[in-house]
Amino acid sequence: MDIEVPICPNCESSVHVVLSNTGKKVGTAVGGTVGAAAGYAGASSGAAAGAAIGSVIPIVGTAVGAIGGGVLGAITGFFTGAAVGNQVGEHVDRHIICEYRCNRCGYVFEA
Ligand SMILES: [Zn+2]
Repeated sequence: MDIEVPICPNCESSVHVVLSNTGKKVGTAVGGTVGAAAGYAGASSGAAAGAAIGSVIPIVGTAVGAIGGGVLGAITGFFTGAAVGNQVGEHVDRHIICEYRCNRCGYVFEA
């Protein structure tokens, strides 16, 4: 998905110009955090189920079931959230911020 790279106003060349990924990074971090929290919250029901099943083996099974369910949910949520945040952030970078950086002279400009 190549898009047209603008020309650096300083060097008058597009060779070293790249899209600034500020939003993408922020989106990934925020998405990961939100996803982990949501995943953990969603997994609490799974953790309860795990705890109930684990309760067949008292105490140890309950703890393992509850922790396992919560952690798994958080991890799954983190990766899902990070992927979504990454996509949203890239969209923001490309279509809303439109900030480009020239790696040759370090000039940052908006297209
Ligand atoms: Zn430049």
